[in-house]
Amino acid sequence: MDISIVIPLYNEEESLPELTDWIRRVLEKEGLSYEIIMVDDGSKDNSWNVIEQLARKFPQARGIKFQRNYGKSAALNTGFQASRGTVVATMDADLQDSPEELPELYRMIVEEGYDMVSGWKKKRKDPLFSKNIPSKFYNWTARRMTGIRLHDFNCGLKAYRRDVVKSIELYGEMHRYIPVLAKWAGFSKIGEKVVAHQERKYGTTKFGMERFIRGPLDLMSVIFISRFSKRPMHFFGPLGTLIFALGFFAAGYIGINKLYRLKHHLPTILVADNPYFFISLTCMIIGTLLFVTGFLAELVSRNAPDRNQYLIEKRTENRQGKSKST
Ligand code: UDP
Ligand code: MG
Repeated sequence: MDISIVIPLYNEEESLPELTDWIRRVLEKEGLSYEIIMVDDGSKDNSWNVIEQLARKFPQARGIKFQRNYGKSAALNTGFQASRGTVVATMDADLQDSPEELPELYRMIVEEGYDMVSGWKKKRKDPLFSKNIPSKFYNWTARRMTGIRLHDFNCGLKAYRRDVVKSIELYGEMHRYIPVLAKWAGFSKIGEKVVAHQERKYGTTKFGMERFIRGPLDLMSVIFISRFSKRPMHFFGPLGTLIFALGFFAAGYIGINKLYRLKHHLPTILVADNPYFFISLTCMIIGTLLFVTGFLAELVSRNAPDRNQYLIEKRTENRQGKSKST
């Protein structure tokens, strides 16, 4: 199968028939074999009935329904696991992303060898202040922190080589950072394509103000996990050592200074009256805590089930085994 289209959806009953028709029209014109996987993220409207009808009508369409709303990442993760295509594309269900882009995304992966191609809603049709401006800032931060040159990390329209979606795991709100996860899994050929964007035709946005808090927190988690989850001491160790050393030498200085002054009969204050003494004590405590945290984190990561799971890209043939068996 050439391409799987994974569509996460939550209360999008009006859009689904139109979207399915549009995808079919585009892909059939291109002569691509495809499947449409609609993941109903616990919709409370009629979405699931609509999906069942569509699945009866078109053999390429199928649906998966969650018992309750788990979030877009969970829906995408489930869709990824179920997908069978050489290329796996994702798109929002709300008709804001255009299926016309799919053939080109497919071509970029298959012919140009990209591991993933992310859409870029260059002309974005969303509210300016609640979406467009915060999103510019957020993308700028993500670019700086991850070194991935994308303009639109969170674009719903993306396409991946099959291996990519089969080797990353999404949870929480990680759907915003799939390019980061892909890069850390070793898929570094990440492309970008300017895509058309429409205003939402039916229904309303499913992401409110809470995304301003969750987005940045998840970015920090993603960066920390991808860089340090296998060696947390490399993060906590230097930080703890630095802060502890700062406190230790400052306290040492205060003590020596006190003795020196006593010896030469210079005026001096009690060590406990010196505010710097308390700052250096605090530094030593914080430094120790960071160090201990590092040790604990090392213990946790030693026990992580995936501690020795690597992505193997290729192996040479085992010729010895072969010649014996034949
Ligand atoms: N979505 C989902 N689960 C959720 C929230 C959203 O599956 O908990 C889907 C939603 O139905 C849509 C896509 O994710 O297909 C993007 O959501 P939305 O269009 O509301 O986001 P926006 O375009 O406003 O950023
Ligand atoms: Mg939308």
